[in-house]
Amino acid sequence: MKLDFTPEETAFRDEVRAFLKEALPGDLRRKMIDREHLGKEDIVRWQRILNARGWAVTHWPVEYGGQAWTPAQRYIFQEEMALAHAPEGSPFNVNMIGPVLCKFGTPAQKEKFLAATANIDIWWCQGFSEPGAGSDLASLKTTAVRVKDSGGDHYVLNGQKIWTTQAQHADWMFGLFRTDSSGRKQQGITFLLLDMKTPGITVRPIETIDGGHDANEVFFDDVRVPVDNVVGEEGKGWDVAKHLLGSERSGIARIGLSKERLSQLRALERRLTDDGTLTPAEQARLAHKLAEVEVELRALELTQLRVVAADAHGGGANAAASILKVKGTEMQQRMTELVLELAGPAGLATAPHDPAGGDDAEDGWVAAAAPFYFTMRKVSIFGGSNEIQKNIIAKTLLGL
Ligand SMILES: Cc1cc2nc3c(=O)[nH]c(=O)nc-3n(C[C@H](O)[C@H](O)[C@H](O)COP(=O)(O)OP(=O)(O)OC[C@H]3O[C@@H](n4cnc5c(N)ncnc54)[C@H](O)[C@@H]3O)c2cc1C
Repeated sequence: MKLDFTPEETAFRDEVRAFLKEALPGDLRRKMIDREHLGKEDIVRWQRILNARGWAVTHWPVEYGGQAWTPAQRYIFQEEMALAHAPEGSPFNVNMIGPVLCKFGTPAQKEKFLAATANIDIWWCQGFSEPGAGSDLASLKTTAVRVKDSGGDHYVLNGQKIWTTQAQHADWMFGLFRTDSSGRKQQGITFLLLDMKTPGITVRPIETIDGGHDANEVFFDDVRVPVDNVVGEEGKGWDVAKHLLGSERSGIARIGLSKERLSQLRALERRLTDDGTLTPAEQARLAHKLAEVEVELRALELTQLRVVAADAHGGGANAAASILKVKGTEMQQRMTELVLELAGPAGLATAPHDPAGGDDAEDGWVAAAAPFYFTMRKVSIFGGSNEIQKNIIAKTLLGL
């Protein structure tokens, strides 16, 4: 097994680095460093820059705008994006519905949606979870009843979704709906695409613990959806959903992001040491904790590289995705705990960053410490909670 980069891979890394230095707008980079909330317009702007370079949807099949990159190139690209403080595109567009439509979409659906999805001319949201159907997703109850009448061949939707991220901005939703409840619960689920402007859809905000509003409840009251909007076959939506959830977890370890956060922690450590804030005993304790995190992060990185190497030879990558998800999200949360600990009371400050200030990353990061700590609680819940990932590891890897 070879874990070093080849000369070609190193050249590729330099090319990505140079592009990001040139193309990433300074204000977006600043917002990322300061952990400021990125609005829809920020994400759309950046994704369109990437798309113009051909790098917005790199893992899609080449005929739909992807890149024929090796797994190592994909890893390098992700890591360089994180190290440059580049925002990620909309995961709903890039990692979820795009790959699903490439694989299961009809020619008409591909024609209508794929290019617009890559460029975020359409902003998607994901309508999977319901009250009572999260980890046990197949228990979902929102119904889609097929009706043929003077208005055409339609499904009529009734029920509720919950936790629908970005539904308030979405043009379209992809979701799972029950078209038959007579068989096993995984059967009778249909994957549908729906225009969020359709009459009968109500979006209600959920305020989360970080004070933000990204999540929503979405209610359906006799919402009519044309049968042409089924992805795959009626009643076979569970297969489509499994494919989508696999893509969702890809890259979820976000090691580049954690490395970049560790370097910010190191900068903070230096500053607090230099200005005499930390006593020698506190310095020693902090140095120990940072070394521990660094070792774990390096181990995780090597694991990811091994998965990448195995994937290149056609083996074992999927089974390891759950391990990477669990450990990667634990590391992301550990970073937020350390910065909160270091920031102390200053971590509660809410003063906005002075945009006229220099490029020094620390102040904005300290001010955002508490909201950031709270917002990162979610990473061990969504994309399949870490407890569920541990069940998968127990079953598929350990045979328990
Ligand atoms: C911020 C945020 C954004 C989200 N965005 C979206 C979105 O855009 N679209 C969407 O469809 N969903 C979204 N979700 C929903 C997310 O997928 C679910 O929250 C998640 O699947 C867990 O489901 P649940 O909340 O119903 O918790 P439950 O399934 O009720 O689980 C509660 C707790 O019990 C544990 N648990 C459950 N079953 C088991 C088991 N068998 N063994 C061991 N432990 C178990 C879970 O790990 C969890 O800790 C989002 C969630 C959050 C928090």
